[in-house]
Amino acid sequence: MSQSLVHADRLFPADPTGRAIARRLYETVRTLPIISPHGHTNPAWYADDAPFPDPARLFVTPDHYIFRMLYSQGVPLEDLGIARRDGAAVETDARRIWRRFAERYYLFRGTPTRLWLDHAFATLFGLESRLSAETADGYFDRISECLAKPEFRPRAIYQQFNIEVIATTESPLDDLSHHRRIRASGWHGRVITAYRPDPVVNPEFDGFRSNIEKFGAIAGCDTLSWSGYLEAHRKRRSFFKDHGATSTDHGHPTARTADLPQPDAERLFLKVLSGNFTADDAELFRAQMLTEMARMSLDDQMVLQIHPGSFRNHNPSVHARFGRDIGADIPTSTDYVHLLKPLLDQYGNEQNLSVILFTLDETSYSRELAPLAGHYPAIKLGPAWWFYDSPDGMRRFRELTTETAGFYNTVGFNDDTRAFPSIAARHDVARRVDCSFLADLVAQHRLDESEAHEVAHDLAYALPKRAYRL
Ligand SMILES: [Zn+2]
Repeated sequence: MSQSLVHADRLFPADPTGRAIARRLYETVRTLPIISPHGHTNPAWYADDAPFPDPARLFVTPDHYIFRMLYSQGVPLEDLGIARRDGAAVETDARRIWRRFAERYYLFRGTPTRLWLDHAFATLFGLESRLSAETADGYFDRISECLAKPEFRPRAIYQQFNIEVIATTESPLDDLSHHRRIRASGWHGRVITAYRPDPVVNPEFDGFRSNIEKFGAIAGCDTLSWSGYLEAHRKRRSFFKDHGATSTDHGHPTARTADLPQPDAERLFLKVLSGNFTADDAELFRAQMLTEMARMSLDDQMVLQIHPGSFRNHNPSVHARFGRDIGADIPTSTDYVHLLKPLLDQYGNEQNLSVILFTLDETSYSRELAPLAGHYPAIKLGPAWWFYDSPDGMRRFRELTTETAGFYNTVGFNDDTRAFPSIAARHDVARRVDCSFLADLVAQHRLDESEAHEVAHDLAYALPKRAYRL
């Protein structure tokens, strides 16, 4: 591995005592298999095992961390090959897209994106000098050459990364045919799905009404009635479970939950279905559905993940031209203590329910999330997420949650990515940051080194398996 792009001691404590302990801890978790219980890679990659087309479409166009930064510095998304909704022309020349990215690679200094990319450049492609305008073409040629070889196909990279299991995320409207093809192929890789019902749970989702109709057709239920709609969820959850799913995932604007009497819930459902509803009705419906999902989880044992607090599609002109997931989602402050109460009043004491909470509001870690997870048996804390999936974000997460929730009310790491080459890098960052945090506790004599070894192993491997029932 090149020393110029990735240093062996990266992210370890700067003081020699802590660094020596962190090195020892990391050495015992470095090669553990990757458990990836939440993410957004494309299941077609594993089903088809086709070569990735070119460096731009491997690294740039699927990764909103990259193109949002370039956009913020004045690069039009069209110039990066991002497809427009209206079908208007965008850049298709992969080398030109790559050069635009390479010339601006300095923009990523100090960001986790730069750590992930350098790790992938060095360890996957053997590159040794920093990406820049000067090295852009050399990079493009080397990566292109590699992508043509069998060892750079998706299944080979899965193996090289030592992935034990990886979850993708699908909507209830997905037929999961890629997952079936993966199984039918006899390949040993374990790719499972996760149930993400936002398109049929969020009345403000594009095409909500027609999604509900399609949902009914797929599930064989009358989804224009409340009972048929709930039955459709139960049936699709069971179908997803048959395709390996152990979790559901809910990306709501807030953490609001509700537990309405069923006749009121039915009236609300008919109202949002009619299209004649207010923003508050939509919010209340999503809130009710989290409680309905918790009820179903008690029956089918699926883990319930809540990812609240993203103001989606904040930039209306970019949303109009390019659609969702384009880097224009901005965190908001999130209240958990009051808004989760209806769900917790009903199910917070259940030993058999597992609700994993995420946040885009770091101020909630010590004030709300750690105290909730440190009390309610049903609650666990998901790792630092999205904007905080970074060395300092992970560090803050441990600093602000451990004293109240401990390590064992957390669930290890999620890479949460659609950027396939970054998966090994992201897990490596999490392991290094956790080992560094533990090393400091050992150096301060707050933890025995033997205990720290156990915790490091659990955070990297045992906890995600247990929390996600894998
Ligand atoms: Zn996600």
